[in-house]
Amino acid sequence: MQARIRAACLAAGRRAEDVTLVAVSKTQGVDAVRAALAAGQLHFGENRVQEAADKFSTLKETHPQLRLHLIGGLQTNKARLAVRLGDVIESLDRPKLADALADAMAREGRTPRLLVEVNVGDEPQKSGVPRADADRFIASCQERFGAALVGLMCVPPAAGDPAPHFAWLAACAARHRLAVLSMGMSADYETAIAHGATHVRVGTAIFGARAGALPQTLPLER
Ligand SMILES: *Cc1c(COP(=O)(O)O)cnc(C)c1O
Repeated sequence: MQARIRAACLAAGRRAEDVTLVAVSKTQGVDAVRAALAAGQLHFGENRVQEAADKFSTLKETHPQLRLHLIGGLQTNKARLAVRLGDVIESLDRPKLADALADAMAREGRTPRLLVEVNVGDEPQKSGVPRADADRFIASCQERFGAALVGLMCVPPAAGDPAPHFAWLAACAARHRLAVLSMGMSADYETAIAHGATHVRVGTAIFGARAGALPQTLPLER
């Protein structure tokens, strides 16, 4: 995976160290995470806060360099746990959640980095701020959270070409002077890198199919 990311960076005229691999370990057991940690992987992504807490609370104590990214749609009643646990919260997508996160950060005395998630395909079943509201919402979050708001995240529609969506998100981040672009998954991370992704969130291409058994060695280096 790291070698393929390096190759995609080279092809795009970018430096490999500018793209961070976030290993998406949702539904995988703690053994899979330990195997990835042993292979040098430090950034992990989870889409459910409670599952993340069950898996990572202890691991974060024993591995202080581990960075946990919360990448799933977030309910306001999980904001407190998300702030306690997450190093990066990638799914800030509505004013009520901004309120809940601000409150949780004050109570916890902890400030995770924040990404605004944009529903780039305007799909009704997906989380993310609608495209048309993105500029206004991002500006309001920048005002409220200052430098803690570092970038944007998206999950383009499963069907069709993701490239125009990645290009749109990159242009939006540039408008707001945001450095972090979390985009690209197993099927499209190379395209995302070509469009400026700084973080790719890869699950199945590392860990295999989500219900299946863990491969003997994880293809992190390849
Ligand atoms: C599951 C998930 C991923 C990883 O998807 P793969 O196709 O397994 O690489 C990335 N981002 C989000 C938000 C996810 O929920």
